[in-house]
Amino acid sequence: MRKVILASVIILLFSFSARSQNGNEMANNKEKQSYESDKPSTEKDKSKYEVVKSDKEWSQILTPVQFQVLREKGTEYPFTGKYYLNKEKGVYVCAACGNELFSSDSKFDSGCGWPSFYKPIGDDNVGELEDTTHGMVRTEIVCSKCGSHLGHVFTDGPKPTGLRYCINSVALDFKKKEKK
Ligand code: FE
Repeated sequence: MRKVILASVIILLFSFSARSQNGNEMANNKEKQSYESDKPSTEKDKSKYEVVKSDKEWSQILTPVQFQVLREKGTEYPFTGKYYLNKEKGVYVCAACGNELFSSDSKFDSGCGWPSFYKPIGDDNVGELEDTTHGMVRTEIVCSKCGSHLGHVFTDGPKPTGLRYCINSVALDFKKKEKK
């Protein structure tokens, strides 16, 4: 009789434990699903870039510093870039492929040491990638046409967007607006 009771208790415990694990698994799956569906799709498919070149080809077009920043995601020293203090009217384009990126109209003095803009010239002109290097989670900004690294975007910018696109001068070329 004692053996029967003991066996019943063991069976009960097993079935409770199995149900509880199943419940946890379901909760985990639900969490995972909601995390995945909530996560913004930031990484653009690299094959969709219009301009695709090998590192060798890029190194023949770009200066070593441009290559380091644009293709190897480097960062120029703050307060050193040629466009940091540029206040002329015109359009900033990608130094690698010429894609229009930012208008001087959205440039502002952020004091951070890099050219700063509160918005790109068009929503589709830049792409965003998640950057988890250097122990931080940041949003990297790339050229939407060639995928080159430009800088990062932060949420401490001025109105109307509240965004600060912090961009390396060396990743940009400036097309001055012609006076009429
Ligand atoms: Fe580009």
